[in-house]
Amino acid sequence: MKVFNKKVAIIGTGFVGTSIAYSMINQGIANELILVDIDKAKSEGEAIDLLDGVSWGQENVNVWAGDYQDCQDADIVVITAGANQKPGQSRLDLVSINAEIMKTIVNNIMKSGFDGILVIASNPVDVLTYVAWQASGLPVSRVIGTGTTLDTTRFRKELSQRLAIDPRNVHGYIIGEHGDSEVAVWSHTMIGTKPILEIVDTTERLTSDDLPIISDKVKNTAYEIIDRKQATYYGIGMSTARIVKAILNNEQAILPVSAYLDGQYGQQDVFTGIPAVVGNQGVTDIIELNLNTAEKELFQKSVTQLKQVMASLQPNA
Ligand code: NAD
Repeated sequence: MKVFNKKVAIIGTGFVGTSIAYSMINQGIANELILVDIDKAKSEGEAIDLLDGVSWGQENVNVWAGDYQDCQDADIVVITAGANQKPGQSRLDLVSINAEIMKTIVNNIMKSGFDGILVIASNPVDVLTYVAWQASGLPVSRVIGTGTTLDTTRFRKELSQRLAIDPRNVHGYIIGEHGDSEVAVWSHTMIGTKPILEIVDTTERLTSDDLPIISDKVKNTAYEIIDRKQATYYGIGMSTARIVKAILNNEQAILPVSAYLDGQYGQQDVFTGIPAVVGNQGVTDIIELNLNTAEKELFQKSVTQLKQVMASLQPNA
């Protein structure tokens, strides 16, 4: 019998990997956290530093720098390794270099005998989740990208600030590519249980003219941060920790992860950000939103763009 030991390995201990680890430790999400990086000294230093704070944390957690063979009995392996966006670069610019890194890493993980759930954060995340799934041979349900979880929390934050409402009471999703073609689903955004489209123009805090401004701001947040501090990591740290928690606690939480579409939304053979049910079997269901015509068109455009990038990775393209 597989013992569910809440053991998580993180591959890549740069800004994103360590922010995920820090969020997980602070929230007491895992019992064992293994850090793996091509730069072993870095992962060792990060493990010592992170472990230093554990006596003040929520739970006892063992944090150590390991190797690929340590993934063998992990419940989850989170992959964050790869080049990050530089100022002026889009996420899709990173594709060929990070696809090669992803294949090597997944091969190493699978050689260990790993049989758990892969969570991918490296960019471009939707394309790399597909690459990881193909390289792993795991069922699609057990390969999950962070998708639009970060964009969605940014969306909730923006609306929360405008309306002076707790962001946890803002319900709505960004879907599609985690990137420039992502789509804000205004038709299904709720404040509490009230549709946002019934709230706009009833308050000076939010007019219909503000909606495209807000979705553009959400889309461009990463560029704003990267221009100022070269990388984004706390937001994705919290978002990935949320996904890992949903899996380890078998929550059946609805999260906008990058999941495999097999006919849903009229799309086939692609991973992209959509609300999906997440628990200890991975993604068990996809929530199909009844998008309006404009949202449908934008979502299809976003998926088409992802498919074009995926096609460019084929050997003869
Ligand atoms: P970083 O440069 O700080 O860290 C990357 C780490 O990966 C480094 O420590 C490096 O040594 C390691 N690494 C590189 N190749 C490796 C390999 N083959 N095996 C093991 N380790 C290897 O970068 P970062 O800021 O942490 O970003 C990491 C990735 O996360 C990037 O692709 C970035 O675009 C992505 N990211 C994703 C989101 C999201 O929402 N999904 C948000 C922010 C960043």
